[in-house]
Amino acid sequence: MTSALESPDAVTARAPAKVNLELFVGPLREDGFHSLSTVYQAVGIHDEVTAARADEWGCTVSGRDAERVPTNDSNLAIQAARALAERTGGQDPVHLSIHKEIPVAGGMAGGSADAAAALLACNALWETDLSREDLDAIAADIGSDVPFLLHGGTAVGSGRGELVTAVLAKGRYHWVFVPCTGSGLSTPTVYEAFDARTAGSEITDPVPSAALMSALRTGDPLELAPVLDNDLQPDAVGLQPQIGEIIEAAMGFGALAAIVSGSGPTVAILAGSTEGAIDVAVALTASGVAGDILRATGPVHGAHVLPTARLL
Ligand code: ATP
Repeated sequence: MTSALESPDAVTARAPAKVNLELFVGPLREDGFHSLSTVYQAVGIHDEVTAARADEWGCTVSGRDAERVPTNDSNLAIQAARALAERTGGQDPVHLSIHKEIPVAGGMAGGSADAAAALLACNALWETDLSREDLDAIAADIGSDVPFLLHGGTAVGSGRGELVTAVLAKGRYHWVFVPCTGSGLSTPTVYEAFDARTAGSEITDPVPSAALMSALRTGDPLELAPVLDNDLQPDAVGLQPQIGEIIEAAMGFGALAAIVSGSGPTVAILAGSTEGAIDVAVALTASGVAGDILRATGPVHGAHVLPTARLL
């Protein structure tokens, strides 16, 4: 319980999942990362992280796929909280309670979303009041997608994805997501397949495509659908042919487009309306091609602190 003058004992922040509207992979850099040009969109599937004052550092996870999320120091939310504590000269321990809605290891950046939410929750709980730039710098050290999850909306990611610039985007887009997370496709495995496939060919530093930028300015999903693109798609499909079957089935059921999200294995399906999204989701389920399906719209806001319950 808090009054207006006391610091809260716990703060909750929520952060969205992302889909990559475009993902171009450039050459391998000296630090072992590929240079990327991507266009992210934040979508309305959220994780929540509550940071509470505690005697020792800890973490518990509930919700979707909770059993697949580590609760030790490899958890990205814990890493983010510890990095913020270190950056601000040391802070009292916190217990993080993570509630997941974002599929784990699905290419929708769930762990990065938790890191972004933990940063904001701890920044508020500890009243460290770091600027957005300082939080962005910590976020980038935790993972390439974390700065975008703080930012939200629709944005270009360059560098290794961590340098975020907003893009002018109109409209609200209707998405259906098929997680396929049982496939065990990991991000490093997909990049290894990309490296093997492109070995010997010259790869230049990628830039955002003018066609995607202009489609986003129209706000029309019919314009966006044909320009969605992902350099990693052949590799994800090659490693997990079921992804290709889902893409093909979705197109047969009237989707405007279907694409691998990030390094997969989630398939992101673009529909023209709420009804269109429901139709594709129902048809995929009824045909038995996909069981686990989520629907969401984008863009949505980035990570944000939820209001604390006020005393009556
Ligand atoms: P990316 O595309 O950034 O590689 P992803 O969206 O495919 O990530 P995540 O849900 O972020 O996948 O999880 C990737 C791995 O990270 C998981 O297998 C899990 O072991 C680990 N992980 C660490 N912290 C978290 C967290 N808070 N939530 C989910 N996974 C986490």
